Amino acid sequence: MSSIDTKLQEVKARLVTACITAGRSAEEVTLLAVSKLHGPDAVRAAHAAGQRAFGENYVQEGLEKIAALADLRPGLEWHLIGPLQSNKTRAVAEAFDWVHSVDRLRIAQRLAEQRPAHLPPLQLCLQVNISGEASKSGVLPAELPALAHAVAALPAGRVRLRGLMAIPEPATGLAAQREPHRRLRELAESLRAAGLALDTLSMGMSDDLEAAVAEGATMVRVGTAIFGARPAAAPRSPKP
Ligand SMILES: *Cc1c(COP(=O)(O)O)cnc(C)c1O
Repeated sequence: MSSIDTKLQEVKARLVTACITAGRSAEEVTLLAVSKLHGPDAVRAAHAAGQRAFGENYVQEGLEKIAALADLRPGLEWHLIGPLQSNKTRAVAEAFDWVHSVDRLRIAQRLAEQRPAHLPPLQLCLQVNISGEASKSGVLPAELPALAHAVAALPAGRVRLRGLMAIPEPATGLAAQREPHRRLRELAESLRAAGLALDTLSMGMSDDLEAAVAEGATMVRVGTAIFGARPAAAPRSPKP
């Protein structure tokens, strides 16, 4: 067994234990393997070990990896979990299956316009700035309802709003880790009460997946615990 295979099984065991502790079924939680800064071979090893959903942070790196692993499609599902600028939306709409990091309407509109008609709708989550000042990405909770209703009203065949995503500030201990995840769950619940059909809470990483599962995560994004420490980001030369 490869070391990625071993670590993947360990993470799955953690997830099962977390679900049992929370009184939830393990089928309710999807494991997203975050492969950013790891090469295509790491994804191949995880795929060989049965992993199907992968998360990428950087658009250009993700696109290159998707192209390098085209032979594994359609068995792979690609999720963009990092910041998305307007000038990259077309490439993302053409290549990814999910975008977790939508935090303004303009981005969602462009994705809806640019999603090719032959592909299924792009699945969207809204990124919420759940820890306030600490993070610069994400919509503020006070601005979330207006954004969620506007995104939900975009053409359903092109994009589909699935839920919320957050990257809480790192915290130590289960109680402190649960707090921001609880707030994200409550925001999703109030949007559901207002009539939006949301089924996804994308929250929980290597260090806090138990806390996230306890608060209702349906998708956890795990990198380090599966692939090991990330190599430093190589500086990218700007395109000519
Ligand atoms: C890197 C990253 C992860 C995974 O983090 P680990 O601590 O390595 O598990 C999850 N979500 C986002 C948005 C990330 O950027």
